[in-house]
Amino acid sequence: MRTPIFAANWKMNHGPSEARAFMQRFLAEYAARDDRTVVFFPPALALAAAREAAAGRADIQWGVQNIAAEEKGAFTGENSAPMARDAGAAAVLVGHSERRHVFGETDEQTAGKCAVAFAHGLIPVLCVGEKLDEREHGHTEAVVLRQLRAGVSRLAPGDLDRLVLAYEPVWAIGTGRNATPDDAAAVHRVLRAELQALGATVRVPILYGGSVNAGNAAALLAAEGVDGLLVGGASLAPESWHAVVSAG
Ligand code: PEP
Repeated sequence: MRTPIFAANWKMNHGPSEARAFMQRFLAEYAARDDRTVVFFPPALALAAAREAAAGRADIQWGVQNIAAEEKGAFTGENSAPMARDAGAAAVLVGHSERRHVFGETDEQTAGKCAVAFAHGLIPVLCVGEKLDEREHGHTEAVVLRQLRAGVSRLAPGDLDRLVLAYEPVWAIGTGRNATPDDAAAVHRVLRAELQALGATVRVPILYGGSVNAGNAAALLAAEGVDGLLVGGASLAPESWHAVVSAG
């Protein structure tokens, strides 16, 4: 039995005070469940406050939204994998569409970030997804396969089995237009076959992300090959996030 993963990407929302208030309200409603994993990706500056507000809740897991591909040094404004680990993160988003398309993150950088994450005990959640014009020109498979192959190209043997992958079509992120369960299942099938071809020996979890909400979460989660959900907008309010994590 797979344990679905519900991942909240707060993006640049909720500083320490709001993060604390969110956790208090959310955890008052959400009792630990052993049939799902809930993981929060708050802004790095709010991670400590959010964790503190969830003290005693070992069922909640934590991540950061980005790390540098380098371990340390003169990279003003960046956070490193060892720092994220030391701050209590167990996971890190790598190659989120906003990193790729707003900040110009390259495939080469995602490779470095995945490698440095594993080297320091963080699980990378490697995000892949096509833009609307790429989908319309029939390039979806080529794009997600290129991003997957590049992202894992510098992993040490065995690391692939500990990766988490997220399929997030760019045209569905923050747009209110989600992929259908069939769309998601089709791409997840391609990604899963490639993970096997690359040498994965276990079922690597593949999350779906893109305009997930309380109304569509159950259907997307039930789609073939979908092992969890990566959620932006609907994770920002305790009530809507509670509704999403209660799905399925
Ligand atoms: C995301 O940020 O990864 C995301 C999927 O956002 P949204 O749920 O708002 O589309």
